Amino acid sequence: MNTKSIATEVSTGCNCGCGEAIGRRAIYRPGHDAKHVSQLVAELFNTIQDGGKVTPAAITSAAKSLPSAALQAKFRRAAERLVAKAATDMKEAAK
Ligand SMILES: [Zn+2]
Repeated sequence: MNTKSIATEVSTGCNCGCGEAIGRRAIYRPGHDAKHVSQLVAELFNTIQDGGKVTPAAITSAAKSLPSAALQAKFRRAAERLVAKAATDMKEAAK
């Protein structure tokens, strides 16, 4: 009889939140690391659209849910572009 729990063989699922099963050592389904980054960027975008402010602390906190420094850097670049663009748009709207 196999007493090994199946739970140790299967991880909790893809880290992007899609809930798809992934391999034991995997963190994401293929391509879903980029998807996760875009999701986090989309959340920041929604915050801005709702009139909220995206602070550097909010970006740092969102970046922490990404598992690697490379993904965090990718997210930060995208987030900073988004914040810079939002600031420009606001200036344009105020004209
Ligand atoms: Zn996924």
